[in-house]
Amino acid sequence: MKPYKNKINRIRSFALGLIFFGFIIMYGAIFFKDNGILVTIFVTLGLLSILASTAVYGWIGLLSTKAVPVVCPNCGKHTKVLGRVDMCMYCKEPLTLDPNLEGQEFDEALNKKR
Ligand SMILES: [Zn+2]
Repeated sequence: MKPYKNKINRIRSFALGLIFFGFIIMYGAIFFKDNGILVTIFVTLGLLSILASTAVYGWIGLLSTKAVPVVCPNCGKHTKVLGRVDMCMYCKEPLTLDPNLEGQEFDEALNKKR
């Protein structure tokens, strides 16, 4: 098992999670329909979380323009690399844009090191 995911995919799942979270919270408001204050709180939280996910989706759009499109050497599909090291969106092949890192063990920490 490889523990890492392609960054753009990971952010996208996060945004999707936020949407689900928002809907679940708003759905939860039904159980408190006798208490107007709780309903307001739940619906507001739900809306905030959906708004946040919209913002995250916008952020993905921005990141995608900065990501470098590459053809994965392993599966031959077009994927996007974000940062110095990232994974193929399809086969999770570690990819790097830095020739110095080629052949090295994949490590998220390489993104932070200079
Ligand atoms: Zn691939």
